[in-house]
Amino acid sequence: MLDLIQELWYLKRDIVSDDFDRALFRLAKEVPMTIHEYPTGEACWTWRVPEKWTCHEAYLETLDGRRLLDYQDHPLHVVSYSLPFEGLVRREQLLKHLHVHPGLPDAIPYVFKYYERDWGLCASQALRDTLNDDEYRVVIRTSFEPGILKVGEIQIPGESEESFVIVAHLCHPAMVNDDLTGVVVGLETARALLKRMGRAQESGPPPTNGGRLYYTYRILILPETIGSVAYLSHNEHLIPGMTGGLFLEMLGNDSPLALQGSFQPESQADHCLTTALRGLDPEGYLGAYRTIIDNDERQFNAPGVRVPVLSLSRVEAPKATGRPPYREYHSSLDTPTIVSGERLAASLDVVLGMVDAWERNYYVVNNFKGEVFCSGYGIWIDYRVNPDGHRRLFEIMERCDGEHSVADIAHELDTPFQAVWEVVSLLREKDLVWLSRTPQPTDPRR
Ligand SMILES: [Zn+2]
Repeated sequence: MLDLIQELWYLKRDIVSDDFDRALFRLAKEVPMTIHEYPTGEACWTWRVPEKWTCHEAYLETLDGRRLLDYQDHPLHVVSYSLPFEGLVRREQLLKHLHVHPGLPDAIPYVFKYYERDWGLCASQALRDTLNDDEYRVVIRTSFEPGILKVGEIQIPGESEESFVIVAHLCHPAMVNDDLTGVVVGLETARALLKRMGRAQESGPPPTNGGRLYYTYRILILPETIGSVAYLSHNEHLIPGMTGGLFLEMLGNDSPLALQGSFQPESQADHCLTTALRGLDPEGYLGAYRTIIDNDERQFNAPGVRVPVLSLSRVEAPKATGRPPYREYHSSLDTPTIVSGERLAASLDVVLGMVDAWERNYYVVNNFKGEVFCSGYGIWIDYRVNPDGHRRLFEIMERCDGEHSVADIAHELDTPFQAVWEVVSLLREKDLVWLSRTPQPTDPRR
């Protein structure tokens, strides 16, 4: 993951640009990927695909020719999708178009204006503070032309056509934690699932939960917002079959993992992923929809789509605090030095653990009626020795009624998914329950 980050991070991956394509084509060499294309001007529900944008040259100079900043030195020096501009500007006018980072005096901020067209440069506060001349020379040579927005999709077919989507965006030029870390974790997730699928095919019919995947997985790598809208609006037939999903970004720094719920907090995806996180990373925390960070999951959760897509990221300060999610966020300081292989690997383990839980999220159907005679089945837990275990066993069995999934039980009992799965596996071994992909109510009144 770190090698790919090193290779791709400094590319100028603006939403429709040559470097975005370069990065996506490079990723497509790693795993089998379909690349969907949407030309400039194409209608995507209420949106339109923007032009391809290229910055050829840009700088700010004093009138005597001293260069103060240059696009060649850092791609963030120019607002993404800045209009071209060339001329002498008065200091006050320049300052209106010169963006600085609100919290980091030495960093260049990341500013984008895809739709409210304007010209703009970005600099450190330190540089801005030195601008005392009356007039400066600005040169921004950018071009807008018809292009093709691209969305990469890695499809891993399961037994069912019902799909789980994993989404990451790739459109943040010269930055790493946001957004390249989500992309590489998504890619490694795809690689692990492809391997699992390959192994299952070699070893013949799988035991339940082992080997073969039940769900189909779609891993999407795209430019933020417009990429999701373009894909969804051109694949409406897939939307009813999307039963859950996870957005990934900011997964390589030292902040704790945060899992943001979907717009439908009672969905199976929400119950499953939130309770799974508790078993996978006790330091991880949960937040409601739109309280941690906003990204592409909004397009999936929106009206007319309504796919419950959660979001996983390492966040020090959730959105609700009004502070940036991590110190270097959206700035030139978001470089490979702030992420580590260990943190990326730990994030990947959590994503794979969530996929495992999703695959195991069956409805638990009782073969028994009444309360189970536990001693007779050798599963009695002595309440004098282990009162919590005793209570938990009964609380779980009480909910094995064909209407609760493993995730529903874990959610109701506020306990890790994995702990419930362990008990359900034991009950299944004893033939006390069976597992179903759909609800099978055993209440005689239903
Ligand atoms: Zn961002």
